[in-house]
Amino acid sequence: MVSYKELGLVNTREMFAKAVKGGYAIPAFNFNTMEQMQAIVQAAVETKSPVIMQVSKGARNYANATILRYMAQGAVEYAKELGCPNPQIVLHLDHGDSFELCKDCIDMGFSSVMYDGSSLPYEENIKISRQVVEYAHAHDVTVECELGVLAGVEDEVSSAVSHYTKPEEVIDFATRTGCDSLAISIGTSHGAYKFTPAQCTRNAEGKLVPPPLAFDVLHEIEKKLPGFPIVLHGSSSVPQEEVDTINQYGGKLPDAIGIPEEQLREASKSAVCKINIDSDSRLAMTAAIRKYLAENPGHFDPRQYLKPARENMKKMYIHKIVNVLGSNDKL
Ligand SMILES: [Zn+2]
Repeated sequence: MVSYKELGLVNTREMFAKAVKGGYAIPAFNFNTMEQMQAIVQAAVETKSPVIMQVSKGARNYANATILRYMAQGAVEYAKELGCPNPQIVLHLDHGDSFELCKDCIDMGFSSVMYDGSSLPYEENIKISRQVVEYAHAHDVTVECELGVLAGVEDEVSSAVSHYTKPEEVIDFATRTGCDSLAISIGTSHGAYKFTPAQCTRNAEGKLVPPPLAFDVLHEIEKKLPGFPIVLHGSSSVPQEEVDTINQYGGKLPDAIGIPEEQLREASKSAVCKINIDSDSRLAMTAAIRKYLAENPGHFDPRQYLKPARENMKKMYIHKIVNVLGSNDKL
């Protein structure tokens, strides 16, 4: 049993309370590689932002949970080395699908876990969420739960259809589970293809324009749970310049589309205090690597193409922190 406190990590309680009050959101960036970790820490330190580093099931399968935990511990030390004496870094389990998994992560030093029972019947979701919350709170670990279903594919999490969160359920759910934050479904979705062309309109240049998020549902939920931390999953914006670079250098991502950043900026000002971004980092990395290898066909040292990939991710993370979420200068 390792406590996250010994590793220099923090839970989300205080940072969410400040974010809700301050009208900004904390970035939750997924990571599975050293380069992503370095880019996240560099961006957070340079912008003086708190940050959530999150680990999905796919990340655990790819990199191993123990290695990722040591990387998060390394992230804290790295932030100090970069000149940030008291970094606020959360190590969060993304989409935990069982009590046992959440417990394992808490026992190995995670400071926050998500239990996602959104695909279960309502009462079953409450029952297991409650069980996770009891164990987590005994170790001062914070818990995110989910109500409503997001469409899209993210690692092993996938659903063909979405169901908006029902505002009439949120008080009962939050009270009975005791969760610290609530992931809701208001039209965001997982992956780089958040909407089909049929769900979108086209602007004058022929680019797809996605349907707007359901801000009415968000505002109703806020009214039911004033000041309660709300989380948005599936909130990459799928920057078209990265998609264009990928396609220009041999990729094939037709009609990849995300959530417009203006809408995420708007959501950040509300009770939304955690915004999950994963696909944008994948796109930034892939675009830089494709471009580098196309322009330097004779190079084969991974450091040569991973360096611009890391720089491109860092640039994206800083942009999100400063221009979309507003979490800069909040340490
Ligand atoms: Zn998610």
